[in-house]
Order: sequence, then C-alpha cells, then structure tokens
Amino acid sequence: MGTKKENFVTINLGDIESVAAAIRDGITTVELMAEYLDVDLVEDCLVLPGARWVCTEADAPSDEETYPASMDAEEAAQEYVSTVTWGDGSEPVDVCVRVGLQAITEEGEVTSVAEQHVEVHIEAEEPHCVHEDGHGWKADPALDGHVDEVCGHCGRGRDMDRHSEVTRYYSAAEVEDKRIPD
Ligand SMILES: [Zn+2]
Repeated sequence: MGTKKENFVTINLGDIESVAAAIRDGITTVELMAEYLDVDLVEDCLVLPGARWVCTEADAPSDEETYPASMDAEEAAQEYVSTVTWGDGSEPVDVCVRVGLQAITEEGEVTSVAEQHVEVHIEAEEPHCVHEDGHGWKADPALDGHVDEVCGHCGRGRDMDRHSEVTRYYSAAEVEDKRIPD
C-alpha cells in the first residue's frame, strides 16, 4: 500500500504560481481551469479571480511590480510611480505606466494581459527654503512673465500655469536670467 504522493495534488487558487505550476506539470489546463472557475480566457490566458495588477513603465518594461485587485488600474499606476524617483523633482513629469492583469498562458507561464496605458502626472516638488518659516512668495513685476513669484528669502521663483495647473520652480540663478533688463 503506502501513500502515493503524486495522486494528491493541491492547487491553491489564491496563488497564481501554484496554478501555473499545475498547468506546467500537465495536471490541468487553462481551459479546464477557466471552465471550473466559470471565467472567460483573456488573450488565450487564464485570469484568476482577484488577479493582481502588473505595472511597469511603458518605455522600460523591466521593472515590474504587482498590486492587489482591491485597487483600480489608476490607483495601481499611481502606487507604482510613487515608489520610484522620476527626475530631480524640479519639473513636473508625466509617466506612462503600462497596467495589465496577471494571467497564466497555456504553457503555464505567468504573464500579463489586457494591458492599458495610464498616464500619471507628478507635480514638481517645492524646493526647500533657507528660511526656517519656508518661502515668502511675492509677485515680481520685473520678471519676464515666465516666473510669477519670487521668494524674498532664497530668491527662488515659481510659476503656476493656470491652464494646466502645473507649478514649476526656478533656481535663484534662473530667476535672475529672466529678469527684464532696465
Ligand atoms: Zn525661499
């Protein structure tokens, strides 16, 4: 007698790797699993209920991160960009995030399907001021219109585009360059 271990296979539906392994081992197929779970195949792949989002930068698809299904695609993309530093923060950046759903191919490989692009806008960070109370922004009419306000403490400038509501910050040297000559 004795127990034949290979007769008892547990597939953990909450663990995509477990399901993918069972498909790779020929224990089940994406079609059988889809029928069992009463779901449609997406791009010939099996998307498990509660599948995680897979996010990557659209232009650099190497850094993949996954996020829970409790988020929507926008939230997953926001979360993805919040984990990475984009540029030096002095200028606003638009990051294009590719968001897909984790799925299993017919061969039992984990992939992502139903990919969409989500544009995430990141505001420029306000640079620190030398003054302990922070910046003292004041309008300065002597500037050429690209800078709205100048800080009376550190000389930095800032400009808010009223149309796009994007704020840009300028160094004191850049502000001086934009000063209209007398
Ligand atoms: Zn300042």
